[in-house]
Amino acid sequence: MAPTKRFSGKSVIITGSSNGIGRATAVLFAKQGAQVTITGRDEERLEAAKKQILKLTSKPNDLNVVVANLTDSKGLDDIVNSTLTKFGKIDILINNAGANISDGTLNTDQSIELYQKTFQINFQAVVEMIKKTKEHLIKTKGEIVNVSSIAGNEQTFSATPYYCAAKSALNQYTRCIALDLIQYGVRVNSVSPGVVVTGFLGAMGLPDEVRDKMANFMASNKACIPAGFCAKPNDIAEIILFLSDRKKSSYIVGQSIVADGGTSLVTGMTAFDMHEMI
Ligand code: NDP
Repeated sequence: MAPTKRFSGKSVIITGSSNGIGRATAVLFAKQGAQVTITGRDEERLEAAKKQILKLTSKPNDLNVVVANLTDSKGLDDIVNSTLTKFGKIDILINNAGANISDGTLNTDQSIELYQKTFQINFQAVVEMIKKTKEHLIKTKGEIVNVSSIAGNEQTFSATPYYCAAKSALNQYTRCIALDLIQYGVRVNSVSPGVVVTGFLGAMGLPDEVRDKMANFMASNKACIPAGFCAKPNDIAEIILFLSDRKKSSYIVGQSIVADGGTSLVTGMTAFDMHEMI
């Protein structure tokens, strides 16, 4: 008999799984035997994610694919209802979808429309997904992992204040609901990545060559990423699986794991070589 896999029999929803960190997370869960709901707006990218997962699994019925916009309440209902219809329960919710939406404006010139859109996908969609899945996660004593960002921590990225503020709101919301839901046996945690090479900059309207140039610059400057490399989606996906696995992380409640290659440790002073100062 084949050995039981780490997430066998677990039903997992991963938002934003048509691309980047979410797709890598869905692939890892599928490899580990989970029943997986993948979702996003872009049908082509979702189809590519579906094919990638189906290559790995002998159980095509363990995959649920939902084209949905998380800023539309029908989209949220489709994700939750189709998961319940197909898998009968929800054990794990990964609120990963997010974007630093751009309309070309920066800093305090960013518009109120952009503020609303940014909060809707990065914060409100998470709140709504949790409200819609809460009763099901209580039944299974499940897990929630939110994907935040170091942009939500104390260091600031002043060019895009709404994205940073939305991720800060998400961090505090994570802590508040973690304290509430743990009394019902549901654990809530989050991960706060630094730079990860995904479709994130593309979604901001930057072409691939600009993205690559930025990634190379940051990886080769210790003031940006002391570890000397940009993360790949899998690096973050492994942390998400760790936080979703009660056997590995049961005592972690309401925390955010920072995974940024040391970026948030750098201060103006440590960015320079002391030998150059004297
Ligand atoms: P990607 O752009 O590669 O993936 C984002 C995913 O979110 C896509 O699957 C996209 O699907 C989905 N998405 C975006 N908007 C919507 C929407 N309105 N409705 C439904 N789905 C949506 O970026 P990442 O993988 O990097 O982003 C994942 C998370 O990681 C985000 O929360 C991001 O803020 C966070 N993060 C990323 C960092 C990075 O450097 N990459 C750093 C720190 C945090 P589709 O386009 O098909 O709708």
